[in-house]
Amino acid sequence: MSRVRASSSFAVFGQPVGHSLSPYIHRRFAEAGGIALDYVALEVEPARFATRLARFHAEGGQGANVTLPLKEQAARLCLELSPAARLSGAVNTLVRRADGWRGDNTDGIGLCRDLRANAGVTLAGQRVLLLGAGGAARGIVPALFDEGVAELVVANRSPERAIALAHDLAECGPIDACALEQLHDVGHFGVLINATSAARQGEALALPASLPASGALACDLSYGVAARPFLDWAASVGIARRRDGLGMLVEQAAESFLRWHGVRPATAAVLMELRARA
Ligand code: NDP
Repeated sequence: MSRVRASSSFAVFGQPVGHSLSPYIHRRFAEAGGIALDYVALEVEPARFATRLARFHAEGGQGANVTLPLKEQAARLCLELSPAARLSGAVNTLVRRADGWRGDNTDGIGLCRDLRANAGVTLAGQRVLLLGAGGAARGIVPALFDEGVAELVVANRSPERAIALAHDLAECGPIDACALEQLHDVGHFGVLINATSAARQGEALALPASLPASGALACDLSYGVAARPFLDWAASVGIARRRDGLGMLVEQAAESFLRWHGVRPATAAVLMELRARA
């Protein structure tokens, strides 16, 4: 007689969220690990998020991912935050405890894992240029320093947000802040990371032609067509190593899965499937 396994309940919250690859990734991880789960995408506007999350829990929800524009609000709804979530002020992973939600942020560890384990990139000792100072940029800074990055320069269209990031995350390591158009005479960077949403919004990311980049690695947190403008720019200035954010997406999901199920799934097959579909 076959045993019926009780299914556990997970979700990704966002607005919009219909495009999210997370349900596919988590179902594939679960299948491979013989774990029974439901994982659905739940679209919810910010004003209704707290109520919807409470209902999700009341209906048996045990864990959730959170995406735009709800990550900061999710942090405020948590009883407890991981160091990465506290430092970044943004939560992408909710784990239900007896008395409330614990919030974590697995974006940074996912990015670092992808660069190190999947792309063979050494971040330790590198000087890194981070373009953008939004939620994703804040989420990855603690993990970059945990990985041994020597120095970070954050450049943002609105310089005040870069300055606030450098101030708020100063305990992680040395961070300089500037506006995008101030990226002159800033020296050589080993790694350039685009954490802006410019291309996703159909806008051009204006980078100074003088930005010294040759020989570096360029990484865009976006994937698909949204990663192309920055990675094409990187190719045009002679950056040989280029990577999009699909590996980060799969690795941050694996870190969420680990927190919910106590086991870290293998990621290579799922990443290969997603690349083949792209
Ligand atoms: P936010 O909205 O929080 O921040 C957007 C950032 O992009 C800000 O720094 C903003 O600058 C900048 N920006 C927007 N438009 C332009 C423009 N035209 N020129 C220059 N800068 C611009 O978004 P997130 O930080 O959450 O997300 C950023 C990107 O990272 C998204 O594309 C997202 O899809 C991707 N991402 C990928 C993940 C993955 O797993 N691969 C995980 C998380 C995010 P300003 O402050 O001036 O407005």
